[in-house]
Amino acid sequence: MARYRGSVCRLCRREATKLFLKGERCYTDKCSVDKRNYVPGQHGQSRRGKQSQYGIQLREKQKARRMYGIMENQFRRYFRKAEKIKGITGENLLRLLEMRLDNVVYRLGFASSRPEARQLVNHGHFLVNGRKVDIASFSVSAGDEIELKEKSKKSPRLKELAELAEGHKAPEWLERDIENFKGKVLRNPDREEIDAPVEEHLIVEFYSR
Ligand code: SF4
Repeated sequence: MARYRGSVCRLCRREATKLFLKGERCYTDKCSVDKRNYVPGQHGQSRRGKQSQYGIQLREKQKARRMYGIMENQFRRYFRKAEKIKGITGENLLRLLEMRLDNVVYRLGFASSRPEARQLVNHGHFLVNGRKVDIASFSVSAGDEIELKEKSKKSPRLKELAELAEGHKAPEWLERDIENFKGKVLRNPDREEIDAPVEEHLIVEFYSR
């Protein structure tokens, strides 16, 4: 599957917000958004003009897409799916994104960033209800149990992640057992439980043009 291979810090700078794509580095003073808070590129420092409504909607969509690490076509498919679900489309969209397996691994604190969670899932380190799932976009449901494969628990990076997870609080809609590297989806998250600095109504407006 296609994915962005450029500098992820550049994406944060483009959206002028921390998207937390580099794990531990994002919490240090090495973060590029903190150091160079202007749009990347030759004329980045002078590009501060007033944005059109279209530009504002576009940026919000790009921010959400980049935060969850999804390419345009797939993101659009999530949006179309969200439209068909009863309720508020923008909230449905965020809920669909939150229920991706890579995001759940990240929210459980078993990876330091969504890109790392995606890599761990793609490398087959996680089981869902006892079966190996190596598809990052796999959609989990309430009641599903996620756990690290027994063999993977010996990996030095995963041991390090277990220590990091201690200082990370999992959201209420997930249950976590750090010692055994296990988690359970208790229910769909409510909007206020989704820690995503996104104004989802702008994304709905963008795709409804
Ligand atoms: Fe974004 Fe993290 Fe890079 Fe900072 S360090 S710019 S938050 S990816």
